[in-house]
Amino acid sequence: MGPNLGGVTCALAALAALLPVVSPVPFGLQIYQCTKPGVIAPGFDDGPWIYSEDILDRMQATGFIATWFINGANKGNIYDYNSTLRRMIDMGHQIGSHTWSHKDLATLTVDGIKQEMILLEEAMVNILGYFPYYMRPPFLSVNAQALSVLKELRYHVIIGDLNTKDWEYQTQAGIEIAKKLFVDGLDLGHTIVESHEQEVWSHGVLIDYMIKIVKDRGLKTVTVAECLQDTQVYRTVRDPNAGQPMEPEPTVTYSLNGRCGNINAGGNLGWTCPPNGGRCCSKYGNCGNGADYCTASVCQPAFGLCDAPKSTYRDELSQSNTATTIPSRTVSNTESARATPTPLGPESTTPDGTCGNQGSGKDKGYTCKPGACCSKYGNCGTTFDYCAAPVCQSAFGKCDPAPERGSKTPDGTCGDISKGNNNGYA
Ligand SMILES: [Zn+2]
Repeated sequence: MGPNLGGVTCALAALAALLPVVSPVPFGLQIYQCTKPGVIAPGFDDGPWIYSEDILDRMQATGFIATWFINGANKGNIYDYNSTLRRMIDMGHQIGSHTWSHKDLATLTVDGIKQEMILLEEAMVNILGYFPYYMRPPFLSVNAQALSVLKELRYHVIIGDLNTKDWEYQTQAGIEIAKKLFVDGLDLGHTIVESHEQEVWSHGVLIDYMIKIVKDRGLKTVTVAECLQDTQVYRTVRDPNAGQPMEPEPTVTYSLNGRCGNINAGGNLGWTCPPNGGRCCSKYGNCGNGADYCTASVCQPAFGLCDAPKSTYRDELSQSNTATTIPSRTVSNTESARATPTPLGPESTTPDGTCGNQGSGKDKGYTCKPGACCSKYGNCGTTFDYCAAPVCQSAFGKCDPAPERGSKTPDGTCGDISKGNNNGYA
């Protein structure tokens, strides 16, 4: 293995991105699929081990690029594979964390999780001089606490959507099932692959097969970071502010995996369906369009909106892409209502304080008066209870400005009860 300047340059570019850039990829949330079209991101867990170099040789022959989610002490000890890790980087591959000793993070205490992550960070700093922003949890297992710690430590949590389950099929006959899972997943358009590098039938059969299929089909393999369009891959020091709020939380976090909202499939992640494509978040926690997602009884508009009639949304494409900039129906409709009396119906200003298509709104589609937001419960209001981002349905009215908790009262009301109206004014 000679030094590969391309790979080194790549690694340096990744390190250059250590400047405090806000990653386009969220921390502490499970990620399932690529956002960059036309690529796949194969990932191999549980090494480094005695097969790693041989697998790299086979990949090198066809330019197959992978991400290696490594352990410190699993079958092998990381310090026996220093040159193997450097070779992975030189070849343009990515290295992510798979924890120090492959424990199930969902069973550990906060300190236990941190130890599993930081021990591997220290080893990687010793060997490579840096450590990753990317990890895959052992057994793909996390719970709310583990995700919260991983967010604090600023890790992107890669699950993937194409699981070969090769660990389960380690026989000559069984590995055929893993091979089939791989091609079936490709046929379904799945993009982030999970396989293993320390299993004998993966090393001997499956990985050769994957390399061949990728070559035969002309597929482009990239690192997980590239497939998520991220340039911030590694860092050299643990952020001294870890545990402190790092940066303002984005008001809208777009779903990378088709899951959304706060219930069922959404899993309390609060993700919003991306604004392109007109998808609503169904009450089952999935993004989509069509009647199964967009009807008023199913759609949760706080987490994404289906395409509205063209006349209403004609400006959307020219606007930037956050939900809050989607033009509210309030202004134009109230203006037109003033100009010519229009019959009551969808998009007209509410006559009775109900609004939208849910709750009290009940499919009326009424818009609130200027300065009031339509809560997801279908009522207009101007207090925090109506204007907070998870509650306000901005398509049916927008607060102007949204009350800020703790700010000086503009009207003599205060606190959260009675006349305070839950605004929390001081
Ligand atoms: Zn594993």
